Amino acid sequence: MKHLSDIEIAQGKELIHIKEIGAKLGIKEDDLELYGKYKAKLPLHLIDEEKIKLNNLVLVTAITPTPAGEGKTTVSIGLTEGLNKIGKQATAVLREPSLGPVFGIKGGAAGGGYSQVVPMEDINLHFTGDFNAIEKANNLLSALIDNNLQSKCCNFNLDPRAIFWKRVIDMNDRSLRKITIGLGGTANGIPREDGFNITPASEVMAILCMATNFKDLKERLGDIFVGFTFDKKPIFARDLKAENAMAILLKDAIKPNLVQTLEENPAIIHGGPFANIAQGTNTIIATKMGLSLSNYVITEAGFGADLGAEKFLNIKCVAADLNPKAVVLVATIRALRHHGGAKKEELNNPNIDFVKAGFCNLEKHIENIRKFNIEPVVAINTFITDSHNEIEFIIEKCEELNVQAVVSKGWEKGGNGTKKLAQAVVNVVEATTTQFKPIYNWNSPVKEKIEKIAKEIYGADAVDFDKKAKLNLKRIDRLGFNDFAICMAKTQKSFSDNEFLVGRPKDFVVTVREIEIAAGARFIIPILGQMMRMPGLPGVPASEGMTIDDDGVISGLS
Ligand code: ADP
Ligand code: MG
Repeated sequence: MKHLSDIEIAQGKELIHIKEIGAKLGIKEDDLELYGKYKAKLPLHLIDEEKIKLNNLVLVTAITPTPAGEGKTTVSIGLTEGLNKIGKQATAVLREPSLGPVFGIKGGAAGGGYSQVVPMEDINLHFTGDFNAIEKANNLLSALIDNNLQSKCCNFNLDPRAIFWKRVIDMNDRSLRKITIGLGGTANGIPREDGFNITPASEVMAILCMATNFKDLKERLGDIFVGFTFDKKPIFARDLKAENAMAILLKDAIKPNLVQTLEENPAIIHGGPFANIAQGTNTIIATKMGLSLSNYVITEAGFGADLGAEKFLNIKCVAADLNPKAVVLVATIRALRHHGGAKKEELNNPNIDFVKAGFCNLEKHIENIRKFNIEPVVAINTFITDSHNEIEFIIEKCEELNVQAVVSKGWEKGGNGTKKLAQAVVNVVEATTTQFKPIYNWNSPVKEKIEKIAKEIYGADAVDFDKKAKLNLKRIDRLGFNDFAICMAKTQKSFSDNEFLVGRPKDFVVTVREIEIAAGARFIIPILGQMMRMPGLPGVPASEGMTIDDDGVISGLS
């Protein structure tokens, strides 16, 4: 049998009208805001706080990943199919892909194999325009800031060297990281240094994902911290009267998007912050929408559980008062070989010794999930290169830890390959009577919160604060932002801030280089190591392998 690519499988599926997917969730046709036949936006009045409490939230996260990704989105979608197959009403609630990875190294984020959301091309490309709206709202604020610098009537006396707000674009474009703007004389603005972040790192993205309604969205947009005047007075977006205009640009982006899986089950896709440089989960509104309409919501948090799951639990679930009932930890044999010391060219060769040596990474993630008072289920996302004894080893080791480890074959077989995983998840959900607990209290001092994450989750001995970070801590205190959540920016490749420390690093210290403020999102962002908030493209970008034919049919998108 010819091996079909993700896009070929997706294009081979005949989609059903989105009103039929809406009907599965009890949504009246009149309530769907149609974007063609296969996509619709959902109005916020469908959110029902009472139902949210009765339904079940399940998080899908992973061990420390290799650059290819370990299959969280694929497992999330596969698990949704499997749950529906065993008679549960389940919806996948996921993030929107960013064009940076689509054209860069990682590819799209609509799942893989026979566990995908469709229409795959639309979801991976401009979708319903949410990212564009976020980018425009972000850049409107930038334009207002630069306009104010030059204004004769209303100048705030902003210090151009103390403006922290950056422009954004949804593209991997390293040459925009640091730029000079306003050149060309008095008619062209005040020259200053600026820079671009990628759209998933925009605070507007973070705000949209944290907002619970329009009122909250506007309030948060107004709270964005812009910078200081020459006499050290803080300036916020509300001082520029920006929040309403920004919210206007987000009037449709605030509504979650409904699409379908390959097996015609519902998927809600909304918001897309990265998990290494932002909070890494879809909007609170989408999660609440899913829980209002569906008995099971399967959601994903980005990268490894040290990043996405930590932030999902400590930030999102606390802010939105959500109580996840189970966590699925995706593990691949390939990544365990990597953590056991396999070189890149050895990753696809069976080797039980590498897997044995790499198990410590999975074990630490299991321990971490339990710190939140939640039971993990390990999903072994199997590849054709996996050997039977490597898989058996993982299952036995997990058994010793009293954790169910189940083979997940959603990529190969869709819902028929995940029924066992679905049953394992249902068992944990039905046995859960406890409330999850965050590992820090938002009201604790900032330094203490950062240390707690570094020590408890990463396994660090201590945290070093560089001189700049220490000054940033004083600024946070002066501005009265001590009670914000912590949104760590750290490499996804290691528990530590050194990407080369694989497995379960011991005896290490992490260094906070500087600390950014996202006052509208209510985050403090400690930056560990050399994190970039604007990625670059690889030597051979994925874009080179893409084509569109004379009939508009795309290939090479993965
Ligand atoms: P994540 O969400 O963890 O980043 P994805 O689910 O996006 O990972 O998967 C990353 C890539 O790996 C996708 O291209 C997907 O098609 C592929 N993939 C996932 N699971 C498998 C599998 N079991 N076998 C082969 N390829 C897979
Ligand atoms: Mg993913």
